[in-house]
Amino acid sequence: MKDENLFAALRAAFPSDLDATAIETADTPLPLLYTWRDLERGTAMMANLIESLDLPPASRIAVQVEKSVEALMLYLAVLRAGHVYLPLNTAYQASELEYFIANAEPAMLVCASRHFGWVSKLAFQHGTHNVFTLDDDRTGTLLMRAAFKSDQHQPVVRRADDLAAIIYTSGTTGRSKGAMLSHGNLLSNARVLQDFWGWRPAAEGGDVLIHALPIFHVHGLFVASHGALLNGSRMIWFSRFDARAVVQRLPEATVFMGVPTLYTRLLAEPGLTRQACAGMRLFVSGSAPLLIETFNDFRDRSGHTILERYGMSETVMLTSNPYRPESARRGGTVGVPLPGVQLRVHSERGAPLHAGEIGGIEVKGPNVFKGYWRMPEKTADDFTTDLWFKTGDVGKMDHDHYVTIVGRSKDLIITGGYNVYPAEVEGYINEIPGVAESAVVGVPHADFGEAVVAVVTARNGATLDSVAIIAALKNQIANFKVPKQLIVVTELPRNAMGKVQKNLLREQHKGLFAA
Ligand code: AMP
Repeated sequence: MKDENLFAALRAAFPSDLDATAIETADTPLPLLYTWRDLERGTAMMANLIESLDLPPASRIAVQVEKSVEALMLYLAVLRAGHVYLPLNTAYQASELEYFIANAEPAMLVCASRHFGWVSKLAFQHGTHNVFTLDDDRTGTLLMRAAFKSDQHQPVVRRADDLAAIIYTSGTTGRSKGAMLSHGNLLSNARVLQDFWGWRPAAEGGDVLIHALPIFHVHGLFVASHGALLNGSRMIWFSRFDARAVVQRLPEATVFMGVPTLYTRLLAEPGLTRQACAGMRLFVSGSAPLLIETFNDFRDRSGHTILERYGMSETVMLTSNPYRPESARRGGTVGVPLPGVQLRVHSERGAPLHAGEIGGIEVKGPNVFKGYWRMPEKTADDFTTDLWFKTGDVGKMDHDHYVTIVGRSKDLIITGGYNVYPAEVEGYINEIPGVAESAVVGVPHADFGEAVVAVVTARNGATLDSVAIIAALKNQIANFKVPKQLIVVTELPRNAMGKVQKNLLREQHKGLFAA
């Protein structure tokens, strides 16, 4: 892999007309237009500020701020200055933040000004003395200080293998682990996606991306932002997702990326029509499984087939449904391994499985991370002896290499010695009339070790009868897979990326069979 600073590679793709709009905000009181020159100058000034702090090489710079164009510039400035970006979910509370600060030992921290009091105290206690603020209305000490710096800056030379970012995994169980991603990991993946998803060169009309995802996660920070930047494409920038407002902007855009929940919310908007989507080129979904109903409903309503892809913090993107022909995009699958990505399915004992057999998904490629920050044992555990990364996802690959995810290995339920894959049972439950969604989990059971429990939501206006659903399932699937209890709720707990938090469901229902 060529040695290149990721920022320098992105900048090289800026259009020659630096005064053209790069980013237009969609939900600020007045629309703000940022030109490519603004990105160039703003990141230079921030990079100069960072350099003036004389931080040790490859310092971690932790950032917990609301989404804004300045926050994106800060990310780019950290790359530019050759340090390591460490984004933190804005939902993290004090005890979580303390863990990240103690674990990552950032040399600099940026937070919202309303949190400055407690965050700076925590930071100082752990030896982090450079604490700045950045708010989503273009205020804060970071911008005040950067305003006095030069707008000329030479990107620091980085090798492909040098660290660019640490992403703490959502960590549904145990402590979060910091996935170390290099400049080469991120750049190689961005280039593959640019080609695979057919990003259009400016000469062919270019692309316009609606960016409505958070930027503390791989999906919004890397896949979406890198996609647009590396293609010199304009972004319509939402600091938070608003289905109605997004639908209104679709006629000006060509690409949208979302998690499945965003698609269900778009479908709830009457304005989502074929006409509104006529100029769109691509709708991408990922980060959590896309229900087949959403896939079908969206095609009916918009005339577009959602392209589902699969990836994770540790590897960026791994598989994608094909871009062309659109008819090759298969609902319920995450598509085929991306060029350069090797993917195999192995049994728990490490034996290779045949096409169609379910097992652990393992991957190799230039996109695969360097390991977990300061966790050599955990890193060693998660790689095989022949250096394939064990994703922790369970799935299968068909003869034609389409991959289907069945669940996370830690969500696998073992009841009375039988393996139950939650996704299989969820699939059957979701087809029962009146059911909107379901989550199947295992909870402790004196006899069986674990018992299968389903938590289900109803479609608008439908009433669900748990006894009747269980009876219907008994006619369709083996008895050991049928939930021992089915609980109807109004909403499933989800994290910011739309993933159902099964750990919370397990915790909530752990006492069901306590006796
Ligand atoms: P994160 O590291 O937070 O991005 O989470 C990565 C995990 O999200 C993967 O290991 C998968 O379990 C899940 N995931 C991502 N994309 C998909 C998808 N398209 N379908 C099903 N699960 C997905």
